[in-house]
Order: sequence, then C-alpha cells, then structure tokens
Amino acid sequence: MNIDRFDFSKFSCFLTCPKKFYWQYVRGLVPAEEAKALVIGKQFHQGAAGEPGDTLWHKIGRLAAAYFPKLPGEQAEVSKVVEIDPGTNFSCRADAVCDSAVIEYKTTGRADTNTYDSLSISLQTRLYAIVFEKDYALLRVVVKSKSRIKKTETEEQFEARVLQEYIDSPETHFLEITLPVIKKGAIADFVMTFKNMKACELKDVWPMSAPNACYGFTPCPYLKLCCDEQTYLPLFKEKDNGQTQESSPTATPADPF
Ligand code: SF4
Repeated sequence: MNIDRFDFSKFSCFLTCPKKFYWQYVRGLVPAEEAKALVIGKQFHQGAAGEPGDTLWHKIGRLAAAYFPKLPGEQAEVSKVVEIDPGTNFSCRADAVCDSAVIEYKTTGRADTNTYDSLSISLQTRLYAIVFEKDYALLRVVVKSKSRIKKTETEEQFEARVLQEYIDSPETHFLEITLPVIKKGAIADFVMTFKNMKACELKDVWPMSAPNACYGFTPCPYLKLCCDEQTYLPLFKEKDNGQTQESSPTATPADPF
C-alpha cells in the first residue's frame, strides 16, 4: 500500500478508526457480501453521472441530474491530484464542479440542520473547496423515501411506487444547499492526521478506536473480525482494485472489547 498517495475515503477511514484502516487498506479485506447502503450509493452516483443501469437508484440518479439546474461552467466527475504536503499526494474526485463551487451529491434519510451543520464543517468539504479553489460547496441532497413495501405489493410494484414519488414531487426529494466554507485550517488538520498514519505504518501498530466508532449510526463491518479474526475471516474477501472502499455492516453487532 502506498500511503503517500491517497484519497479522502482512506483518510476518513483512518480518522474513524486506525484498526479499520488496517483491515481495509493494509490487509485489503472487504465484506464478502456488499452492504445494501453501499450498493444504493454506487447506483445513485452512476445514474447521476449518466452511466447505464436499470435499478431504482440508477433511475433516481438520472432524475436528480435532470432536476438540478446546470450551473455556469459545470462539469461532472472532476478529478484532481494535489501535493498537499511535500511528498504527499491527495487525490480528489468531486461529483461535479462549476465556476464558483464544488458540487457533491448526498443521499440522506435525515435532511435537517444537524446534517447540514456537520457537512459544512466536514474536513472533506473544506479540503475539496481548497483543492478545487472554490469559495463554497453546493450540496445536492437527495432525501430518501420513507415508504415501506406493503404486504400486498411485489418488489417491482414497490419500486415503481417509490420512483413515482420522486417524479410527482421532486421539490421535496431534491434539495440544493449552499455551504460556505467557514472553518479554516483544513490542510493543518489533514497533515496532522497524515503524520499519525505514517507513525502507525512505521510501527505496524493500528489502535482500535473507542466503541462509539464501532457502533455509530451503523455498526462497523469489521466488528466480528476485531472479536475473533480466525472465526470470522471467511466473511471477508480480498478487495478488488476497482471496488468501493467503504462498507456497511453485514452482521449483528457483538462487543469486540
Ligand atoms: S469494530 Fe471498532 S475497533 Fe474494530 S475496526 Fe471497527 S471501529 Fe475499529
């Protein structure tokens, strides 16, 4: 693993828990069964980027891309690599950029001020604004439907009903939020954590985080591996190069400590 060139997913994984970084990037393990939330996010982003796909979330992605007005200078899927510290290359891939903002799509079930406040000070938002030299970030929020499948309907009927909700009332499902980047010091925060990563790599010591990171909004997918590697290793597989880097839980939480 080359720790001197990395993207925000790796960085955020280490911030959450160095042990998680170890499982995912040093050992290269991901859950053998991809988590549903991860699959949905991937399909949505493919749809929004105009890639082919016929699932509900591909279709919602295409609806979202058509709904949000195209801004001056807007370009989708823009990548940039910057040397953020001598010898350290940081690779960013924004969902889109326009003349004045970096644009990110977010799907959420909680479209409230708490979510927006935390996103406005998130290190990713602040770093991306610096890297792409923009004054602010524009969030294109896609609010997840609260509908649940009825006993009387098939999966296909349910998906058709949900899609119709987005078609009938896009204004309640697609929101545009402007986030000025007000918290300074993103580069310093980044470099400090990067030095911790290098120290862990040098000593090959990867501490476990506090239990709040293990359980969070969703339990960590490596929970069982942290309890007992030998027993639970069959639940994981080697990560493919092109595979998504974040995972959600596949197993019932257990206490690793
Ligand atoms: S279960 Fe907890 S300690 Fe283990 S990798 Fe996940 S967050 Fe870290």
